[in-house]
Amino acid sequence: MTSTSSTFGLSRRSLLAGLAAAPALTGVAGPLVAQTAATKTAAQEAQAALKDANGTKLVLLGTGGGVGGLGPRRARRMTSHVMLSNGAAYVLDCGLGVIDQYARTGIPFPALRSIFITHHHADHNIEYGPLLVVGWVNGMHLDVRAFGPPPLKQMTEDFIRAYKTTVDFWAEDFKMKPLVAVEVKEVPAAGAVTQDDNVKVSAIIVEHPPVKPALGYRFDFKDRSIAFSGDTAPFEAVAKMAKGADVLVHEAMYVPALESYTRDEIAKGRPVKFEDVMAHMKADHTPAEDVGRIAREAGVKTLVLSHLVPATDGITDDTWRAAVARYFKGNIIVGKDLMVL
Ligand SMILES: [Zn+2]
Ligand SMILES: [Zn+2]
Repeated sequence: MTSTSSTFGLSRRSLLAGLAAAPALTGVAGPLVAQTAATKTAAQEAQAALKDANGTKLVLLGTGGGVGGLGPRRARRMTSHVMLSNGAAYVLDCGLGVIDQYARTGIPFPALRSIFITHHHADHNIEYGPLLVVGWVNGMHLDVRAFGPPPLKQMTEDFIRAYKTTVDFWAEDFKMKPLVAVEVKEVPAAGAVTQDDNVKVSAIIVEHPPVKPALGYRFDFKDRSIAFSGDTAPFEAVAKMAKGADVLVHEAMYVPALESYTRDEIAKGRPVKFEDVMAHMKADHTPAEDVGRIAREAGVKTLVLSHLVPATDGITDDTWRAAVARYFKGNIIVGKDLMVL
């Protein structure tokens, strides 16, 4: 590498080229810098799309399923979304990365009105508590509300209690009203969840053993309706819930890639049996072909594939699309982190 002073005048492109040319750094710094550059572009695009937005927008914050496979091959963050309607933000799921990704969209934290959790797997809830604390420091209003399966109330109280010392330091330092509680409404069954001046939200119970309940949600905004499958095996009720929606965001797994990925992980020492992993995945998740059938049955205009499994790079958009397009003739979007729809 060059000295610090001579690095300053370089463009990002020449900096990247410089890193690639430096043998000692290529393995570590090269991919990391490249990834940062790509993320910045996606963030700038998202900010521009939201700035020009007319009506309700959905931002895919993280489009990868599962908590595993962390490392250079993982190309997608864990599951989270934000919907922006009339200046109010609604977050759905809080996988690792939700705070950073939300911030990158440029949506201010005081805009955050409600948080929804589909189920208590870590790729959907691990950054829920941190979002409350970091959001609060960044101006999130204390009347933010959270919705999700039991025991969300207890989890929220326990998390805030665990971070009381941290919260109190900030409250004292910045003369802020401390975060002491968040209003939680647990969703133990299918039906209406909540309603405000922008949106009516309902939920269904989906098929995701042994998680009970695991939820799918439908958001009916004034100008568009968006349905989310959550994590589920192929399930009739999702098509029914999403009936006539403008957008269905559905989880999808690509089985051939998942099989080779799993074999690879086992060869590297992951202590599981191939048959057990695949049996679990088939009982709990939806192969891309079945997603196409469900979207067709629902009659949605646009199908968004997200919670992609495996969340690695190397599966092209065309591969995902082809699996689904055999059954669904509408608009198919292969989700990408920070995509605005
Ligand atoms: Zn998941
Ligand atoms: Zn799950």
